Amino acid sequence: MISDAEAVMRAAMAVQLRAIAEAEERRIPTGQGARKTETWLRATLNIAAGEAKNRVLAARMATERTNLQGETIPAELPATAEAIAAGAMTVAHARVIIDGVRRMAPVCTPVELGQAESMLAGYARDHCPHDLAKLAERIRYYFDQDGAFRTEEVQHALRELHYGTAADGMTVINARLDRETGAKFRAALQPLAAPRPTVDGEPDPRGPGQRNADALNALLDIAIASEQLPRSGGQRPHITVTIDFDDLARALREPGVLPGTLTATGQPITAANVRRLACDAEILPVVLGSDGLPLDVGRAERTAPPHLRAALQLRDGTCAFPACDRPPGTPEAHHIESWVDGGATDLANLVMLCGHHHRAVHTQHWTITVEDNRPVFTPPTTVDPERRPRPGGRPVGAEHNTLLQQVIPRPRRSEETTHAA
Ligand SMILES: [Zn+2]
Ligand SMILES: [Zn+2]
Repeated sequence: MISDAEAVMRAAMAVQLRAIAEAEERRIPTGQGARKTETWLRATLNIAAGEAKNRVLAARMATERTNLQGETIPAELPATAEAIAAGAMTVAHARVIIDGVRRMAPVCTPVELGQAESMLAGYARDHCPHDLAKLAERIRYYFDQDGAFRTEEVQHALRELHYGTAADGMTVINARLDRETGAKFRAALQPLAAPRPTVDGEPDPRGPGQRNADALNALLDIAIASEQLPRSGGQRPHITVTIDFDDLARALREPGVLPGTLTATGQPITAANVRRLACDAEILPVVLGSDGLPLDVGRAERTAPPHLRAALQLRDGTCAFPACDRPPGTPEAHHIESWVDGGATDLANLVMLCGHHHRAVHTQHWTITVEDNRPVFTPPTTVDPERRPRPGGRPVGAEHNTLLQQVIPRPRRSEETTHAA
């Protein structure tokens, strides 16, 4: 039924395109005071400007029509015209072919151009306009290697990336990247931006824009952690925040708390978020103290040394949060009791979390305990009114062995029997 309706619409469109071509042939649009056929059609049919342009181009280049003398004028693009008349392609397809042929025309012989057009028209019958455009570009690359190379050089010269702070404090990024950089950007971003289900198996509630932004955040973490970025003043290029230690300590409890300052931008940031940033001081060392002076809190008190991080990662993986399937990024060592409040930096008080779940734990206020060397996450009432604890971390082999022995007990051969045999 839907296909039948589409066939009727395409047949009607073919009739309309021919009528448009003949109207132009008879100079009707200019006769009615329109400067261009596009504007005349747009006004006559009350359609969008882009749609009017597509139809006029398809009519002009890919439609057979009769002139005032009653002679048949063949279409400039015969294969495309034939496909349109047969209802085998849409106007959007035709537009792609027209643009492709126009770009090829200066570098192809008429025979080559005809071959390319008939190839595109054939391909359009069972491929979408997007794929068709890719084929058209590839054909142009084939015929005009010098021109294609020049295009790439020009695109490289046109590369740009700008960023600034909007009035609301958010950073706005605007970029045009050459092919190579664009491909690199996608290759790095896409795996990090993949949707992932929530703890309850619900689909990822984040929109594509939010997922891309999160992916960029993860990408920056990876870049910063890679130690390959140029150092300034011997420091790794971390985020630095200045905040009064008292404000940080009081952040969750009292009114009148002063915000911290992001040194890179001079922007204020809430003490509550500084607490999260400061949680894993290895990733984000925070300069503390009023007057912007580093506060004398020993590094040992707040950073997890490499052997501790290794042990944590062994116990928790990249993220200990129940059912986290976050693609690998930089894990953050979360202090269950903040070091600001005197929490120790040891295995019993640390849990590895991905950036996403680290944020969730802080903002939703999950309760975390470590039981039998395994982190257990108790949700807040906003997530689960009954607050049922959920085991986190990753199941370890020893734990599975114990479970096996409990559920399916089997006699184990003793050392003596083994030796006797
Ligand atoms: Zn934390
Ligand atoms: Zn996670």
